[in-house]
Amino acid sequence: MKDVTDHQPPVKNFPIDVFSDHPDMISIKDYESLQQHPHFKESIPRDTSKLDSLVGEYRSPQKVKCAFGHPHMRGYLVRLNDETLTLLGHNCGENHFDVRDYIRSKNAFTALRDRELLKRRLASLEFLERRFQSLFSSALPLFRAAQKLCSEMPAQAKLQIDRMRRDKDSRIVLLSSADGRERDINKILQNRHSDLNLEVIGVLQGIECLEQRYNVFQLLKQSKELIASLQGETAYSTVFERKSVRQRLDKLEAGLRQIEKAERYLHAFLASDNLNQLSKCVDGSGKKKQIKLLVSKWSMEHRFKAA
Ligand SMILES: [Zn+2]
Repeated sequence: MKDVTDHQPPVKNFPIDVFSDHPDMISIKDYESLQQHPHFKESIPRDTSKLDSLVGEYRSPQKVKCAFGHPHMRGYLVRLNDETLTLLGHNCGENHFDVRDYIRSKNAFTALRDRELLKRRLASLEFLERRFQSLFSSALPLFRAAQKLCSEMPAQAKLQIDRMRRDKDSRIVLLSSADGRERDINKILQNRHSDLNLEVIGVLQGIECLEQRYNVFQLLKQSKELIASLQGETAYSTVFERKSVRQRLDKLEAGLRQIEKAERYLHAFLASDNLNQLSKCVDGSGKKKQIKLLVSKWSMEHRFKAA
């Protein structure tokens, strides 16, 4: 008769990451494929089993019995001297095999896994480089146009843009007094909390693209250098070398994300509608007209329509 405790819910399939170039391991992708493997054993004898190596690791959403019958949610796939494959809980090895042998095997596995994971990440470099090339050809001209446009703006508009950039503020404000505008702006710059003499008349989209951290030219230059330093990178056998490669990959990915963000802001900033908002806050002595002319000269719609 069967014991009622045998009626446990079946373990749902879960992935197993195998890091081994042994041909015997190719078919193992998950728990199901492991169970079908001719050398898989669910349990092994405690005293006579000899460990050969750790070959993979797993994480399961449910508890899975290890080779010694304990329930674990994570652990390793191991290979024994007699070719048996079995699962080991993450903290079982020390207690059931020779501690020094086990730790040596575990260290060898960790180094192999880290190298392998890094190799996979380095393989994505080609994709990152393509992403970089497309950003390079689109973001750089936009960035230059935005810079040129800002430098050609009349003084009042320049002050307004500078203030927005410095305060990380996208609001366009109108000064209540039409006279002595320059003086009023200076007053605001010195006393930013005084909102009594200004009125918000709009929001300038994408002003963030002028912030220091979105110096697109610098970001592109840095990404280019990182890609060049990572191309053909083969020195990652030591922990230190792997750390250096990983850091450069992290930096490259973060930089590309920043350029993508800046590009979105640049698009918004160079839109005519957006820049016409800016002209609203400047009046008198033909400055409004001057901004409008600049807008039509530099805005996305006119300059980049054909592209
Ligand atoms: Zn165990």
